[in-house]
Amino acid sequence: MTAHPLFAADYSHVPAGLREVRTRIAAACARAGRAPDAVRLVAVSKMHPAEAVLAALGAGQHVFGENRVQEAAGKFPPLRASHPALRLHIIGGLQTNKARDAVRLADAIESLDRPRLADAIADAIQHEGRTPNLFVQVNVGDEPQKAGIPTAEADSFIAACQARFGAALVGLMCIPPAEGDPAPHFAWLAACAQRHGLAGLSMGMSGDFETAIAAGATHVRVGTAIFGARS
Ligand SMILES: *Cc1c(COP(=O)(O)O)cnc(C)c1O
Repeated sequence: MTAHPLFAADYSHVPAGLREVRTRIAAACARAGRAPDAVRLVAVSKMHPAEAVLAALGAGQHVFGENRVQEAAGKFPPLRASHPALRLHIIGGLQTNKARDAVRLADAIESLDRPRLADAIADAIQHEGRTPNLFVQVNVGDEPQKAGIPTAEADSFIAACQARFGAALVGLMCIPPAEGDPAPHFAWLAACAQRHGLAGLSMGMSGDFETAIAAGATHVRVGTAIFGARS
Protein backbone atom coordinates (compact mmCIF):
# COMPACT_ATOMS: atom_id res chain seq x y z
CA MET A 1 0.00 0.00 0.00
CA THR A 2 2.89 2.35 -0.69
CA ALA A 3 1.83 5.47 -2.56
CA HIS A 4 4.14 5.43 -5.56
CA PRO A 5 4.14 8.69 -7.56
CA LEU A 6 2.95 6.77 -10.64
CA PHE A 7 -0.16 5.69 -8.76
CA ALA A 8 -0.68 8.87 -6.78
CA ALA A 9 -4.19 9.29 -8.14
CA ASP A 10 -5.25 5.80 -7.08
CA TYR A 11 -6.82 5.84 -3.63
CA SER A 12 -8.92 2.71 -4.02
CA HIS A 13 -7.08 1.17 -1.04
CA VAL A 14 -8.34 3.85 1.37
CA PRO A 15 -11.68 2.25 2.36
CA ALA A 16 -9.94 -1.02 3.27
CA GLY A 17 -7.25 0.87 5.19
CA LEU A 18 -9.92 2.74 7.11
CA ARG A 19 -11.83 -0.44 7.88
CA GLU A 20 -8.73 -2.11 9.21
CA VAL A 21 -7.79 0.86 11.40
CA ARG A 22 -11.34 1.10 12.77
CA THR A 23 -11.31 -2.61 13.56
CA ARG A 24 -7.99 -2.23 15.39
CA ILE A 25 -9.33 0.79 17.32
CA ALA A 26 -12.43 -1.15 18.39
CA ALA A 27 -10.30 -4.12 19.47
CA ALA A 28 -7.96 -1.86 21.46
CA CYS A 29 -10.98 -0.25 23.14
CA ALA A 30 -12.36 -3.68 24.04
CA ARG A 31 -9.01 -4.79 25.51
CA ALA A 32 -8.90 -1.61 27.59
CA GLY A 33 -12.50 -2.05 28.78
CA ARG A 34 -13.50 1.15 27.01
CA ALA A 35 -16.61 1.77 24.92
CA PRO A 36 -16.13 1.09 21.18
CA ASP A 37 -16.89 4.73 20.36
CA ALA A 38 -14.61 6.15 23.08
CA VAL A 39 -11.94 7.02 20.53
CA ARG A 40 -12.24 9.39 17.60
CA LEU A 41 -10.20 8.66 14.52
CA VAL A 42 -8.50 11.70 12.98
CA ALA A 43 -7.44 10.64 9.47
CA VAL A 44 -4.18 12.45 8.71
CA SER A 45 -4.31 13.39 5.03
CA LYS A 46 -1.22 15.61 4.87
CA MET A 47 0.73 15.33 1.61
CA HIS A 48 -2.12 13.40 0.00
CA PRO A 49 -4.39 15.13 -2.52
CA ALA A 50 -8.09 15.94 -2.23
CA GLU A 51 -8.86 12.66 -4.04
CA ALA A 52 -7.54 10.78 -1.02
CA VAL A 53 -9.79 12.77 1.31
CA LEU A 54 -12.73 12.13 -1.01
CA ALA A 55 -12.04 8.39 -0.92
CA ALA A 56 -12.12 8.50 2.89
CA LEU A 57 -15.26 10.65 2.97
CA GLY A 58 -16.90 8.08 0.72
CA ALA A 59 -16.04 5.43 3.31
CA GLY A 60 -17.70 7.39 6.08
CA GLN A 61 -14.67 9.18 7.56
CA HIS A 62 -15.37 12.82 8.42
CA VAL A 63 -12.56 14.00 10.70
CA PHE A 64 -9.22 14.85 9.06
CA GLY A 65 -5.88 16.13 10.27
CA GLU A 66 -3.44 18.35 8.39
CA ASN A 67 -0.13 19.60 9.72
CA ARG A 68 0.31 22.62 7.43
CA VAL A 69 -2.21 25.43 7.30
CA GLN A 70 -1.33 26.39 3.74
CA GLU A 71 -1.91 22.87 2.46
CA ALA A 72 -5.20 22.63 4.35
CA ALA A 73 -6.30 26.01 2.97
CA GLY A 74 -5.87 24.71 -0.57
CA LYS A 75 -7.50 21.36 -0.01
CA PHE A 76 -10.37 21.71 2.43
CA PRO A 77 -12.68 24.65 1.65
CA PRO A 78 -13.98 23.07 -1.60
CA LEU A 79 -14.41 19.70 0.14
CA ARG A 80 -16.27 21.33 3.00
CA ALA A 81 -18.70 22.93 0.56
CA SER A 82 -19.72 19.51 -0.73
CA HIS A 83 -19.37 17.66 2.60
CA PRO A 84 -20.76 19.78 5.46
CA ALA A 85 -20.02 17.05 8.03
CA LEU A 86 -16.28 17.33 7.38
CA ARG A 87 -14.14 18.35 10.37
CA LEU A 88 -10.57 19.60 10.11
CA HIS A 89 -7.92 19.40 12.83
CA ILE A 90 -4.67 21.34 12.48
CA ILE A 91 -2.10 19.07 14.11
CA GLY A 92 1.25 20.56 13.09
CA GLY A 93 3.51 23.26 14.48
CA LEU A 94 1.80 26.60 13.93
CA GLN A 95 3.54 29.90 13.20
CA THR A 96 1.90 32.91 14.83
CA ASN A 97 1.37 34.53 11.43
CA LYS A 98 -0.73 31.51 10.39
CA ALA A 99 -2.97 31.61 13.44
CA ARG A 100 -5.67 33.62 11.73
CA ASP A 101 -5.89 31.21 8.78
CA ALA A 102 -5.91 28.27 11.18
CA VAL A 103 -8.75 29.73 13.25
CA ARG A 104 -10.75 30.45 10.10
CA LEU A 105 -10.22 26.96 8.63
CA ALA A 106 -10.05 24.53 11.50
CA ASP A 107 -12.54 22.92 13.85
CA ALA A 108 -9.69 22.06 16.18
CA ILE A 109 -6.12 23.27 16.64
CA GLU A 110 -4.06 20.60 18.40
CA SER A 111 -0.72 22.40 18.42
CA LEU A 112 -1.14 25.22 20.94
CA ASP A 113 2.29 25.13 22.54
CA ARG A 114 3.53 28.58 23.59
CA PRO A 115 2.31 31.86 25.07
CA ARG A 116 2.88 33.89 21.89
CA LEU A 117 0.80 31.44 19.89
CA ALA A 118 -1.93 31.63 22.55
CA ASP A 119 -1.89 35.43 22.07
CA ALA A 120 -2.15 35.06 18.29
CA ILE A 121 -4.98 32.52 18.52
CA ALA A 122 -6.89 34.70 20.98
CA ASP A 123 -6.58 37.66 18.57
CA ALA A 124 -7.63 35.49 15.65
CA ILE A 125 -10.69 34.19 17.52
CA GLN A 126 -11.76 37.76 18.13
CA HIS A 127 -11.23 38.84 14.53
CA GLU A 128 -12.70 35.76 12.89
CA GLY A 129 -15.65 35.39 15.25
CA ARG A 130 -15.22 31.62 15.52
CA THR A 131 -13.55 29.46 18.11
CA PRO A 132 -12.01 26.11 17.22
CA ASN A 133 -11.48 23.50 19.92
CA LEU A 134 -7.96 23.76 21.28
CA PHE A 135 -5.47 21.16 22.51
CA VAL A 136 -2.23 22.09 24.26
CA GLN A 137 0.65 20.16 22.72
CA VAL A 138 3.19 18.96 25.29
CA ASN A 139 6.74 17.99 24.34
CA VAL A 140 6.53 14.88 26.51
CA GLY A 141 10.09 13.76 25.72
CA ASP A 142 11.48 17.30 26.14
CA GLU A 143 13.20 16.87 22.79
CA PRO A 144 14.96 20.04 21.60
CA GLN A 145 13.88 19.60 17.95
CA LYS A 146 10.23 19.00 18.74
CA ALA A 147 7.25 21.33 19.10
CA GLY A 148 5.24 21.35 22.31
CA ILE A 149 5.45 23.10 25.66
CA PRO A 150 8.25 21.59 27.80
CA THR A 151 6.98 19.27 30.53
CA ALA A 152 8.26 21.56 33.30
CA GLU A 153 6.14 24.45 31.98
CA ALA A 154 3.10 22.40 31.02
CA ASP A 155 1.02 22.84 34.19
CA SER A 156 1.31 26.63 34.28
CA PHE A 157 0.76 27.00 30.53
CA ILE A 158 -2.31 24.74 30.58
CA ALA A 159 -3.78 26.65 33.53
CA ALA A 160 -3.20 29.96 31.71
CA CYS A 161 -4.86 28.60 28.55
CA GLN A 162 -7.85 27.36 30.55
CA ALA A 163 -8.24 30.78 32.13
CA ARG A 164 -8.04 32.42 28.75
CA PHE A 165 -9.97 30.07 26.46
CA GLY A 166 -12.35 28.42 28.91
CA ALA A 167 -14.19 25.37 27.60
CA ALA A 168 -12.60 25.80 24.15
CA LEU A 169 -9.50 24.20 25.65
CA VAL A 170 -10.61 20.59 25.35
CA GLY A 171 -7.47 18.56 25.88
CA LEU A 172 -3.79 17.76 25.44
CA MET A 173 -1.80 16.39 22.53
CA CYS A 174 1.62 14.78 22.27
CA ILE A 175 4.04 13.10 19.89
CA PRO A 176 6.33 10.89 22.00
CA PRO A 177 9.97 10.30 21.05
CA ALA A 178 10.37 8.08 17.98
CA GLU A 179 12.67 5.71 19.89
CA GLY A 180 11.70 3.78 22.99
CA ASP A 181 8.43 2.83 24.65
CA PRO A 182 5.74 5.50 24.16
CA ALA A 183 3.56 4.11 27.00
CA PRO A 184 5.16 6.12 29.86
CA HIS A 185 4.76 9.32 27.82
CA PHE A 186 1.11 8.56 27.12
CA ALA A 187 0.57 7.84 30.81
CA TRP A 188 2.25 11.13 31.73
CA LEU A 189 -0.03 13.07 29.37
CA ALA A 190 -3.13 11.29 30.69
CA ALA A 191 -2.21 12.16 34.27
CA CYS A 192 -1.54 15.76 33.28
CA ALA A 193 -4.94 16.04 31.57
CA GLN A 194 -6.62 14.59 34.63
CA ARG A 195 -4.92 17.13 36.93
CA HIS A 196 -6.48 19.88 34.83
CA GLY A 197 -9.88 18.28 34.38
CA LEU A 198 -9.39 18.00 30.61
CA ALA A 199 -11.27 15.20 28.85
CA GLY A 200 -9.46 15.22 25.50
CA LEU A 201 -6.27 13.23 24.88
CA SER A 202 -4.93 13.30 21.34
CA MET A 203 -2.19 10.69 21.24
CA GLY A 204 -1.25 7.75 19.07
CA MET A 205 -0.28 7.56 15.39
CA SER A 206 0.00 4.64 12.92
CA GLY A 207 2.79 2.97 14.89
CA ASP A 208 1.43 3.29 18.41
CA PHE A 209 -2.29 4.08 18.47
CA GLU A 210 -3.23 0.87 20.26
CA THR A 211 -0.77 1.67 23.06
CA ALA A 212 -2.25 5.17 23.25
CA ILE A 213 -5.81 3.80 23.47
CA ALA A 214 -4.74 1.57 26.38
CA ALA A 215 -3.48 4.75 28.10
CA GLY A 216 -6.76 6.62 27.55
CA ALA A 217 -6.47 8.38 24.17
CA THR A 218 -9.72 9.99 23.02
CA HIS A 219 -8.32 11.01 19.60
CA VAL A 220 -5.83 9.05 17.53
CA ARG A 221 -4.14 10.69 14.54
CA VAL A 222 -3.53 8.07 11.88
CA GLY A 223 -2.14 8.74 8.41
CA THR A 224 0.07 6.04 6.93
CA ALA A 225 -2.07 3.09 8.04
CA ILE A 226 -5.01 4.60 6.11
CA PHE A 227 -3.59 6.42 3.12
CA GLY A 228 -0.26 4.63 2.63
CA ALA A 229 3.23 6.09 2.77
CA ARG A 230 3.79 9.76 2.00
CA SER A 231 6.23 10.54 -0.79
C1 LIG B 1 1.85 12.99 10.24
C2 LIG B 1 1.33 13.08 11.60
C3 LIG B 1 0.55 12.04 12.14
C4 LIG B 1 0.25 10.73 11.42
O1 LIG B 1 1.39 9.94 11.35
P1 LIG B 1 1.31 8.45 10.73
O2 LIG B 1 2.52 7.80 11.30
O3 LIG B 1 1.37 8.60 9.25
O4 LIG B 1 0.07 7.83 11.19
C5 LIG B 1 0.04 12.21 13.42
N1 LIG B 1 0.27 13.33 14.12
C6 LIG B 1 1.00 14.35 13.64
C7 LIG B 1 1.20 15.56 14.46
C8 LIG B 1 1.55 14.26 12.37
O5 LIG B 1 2.28 15.28 11.89
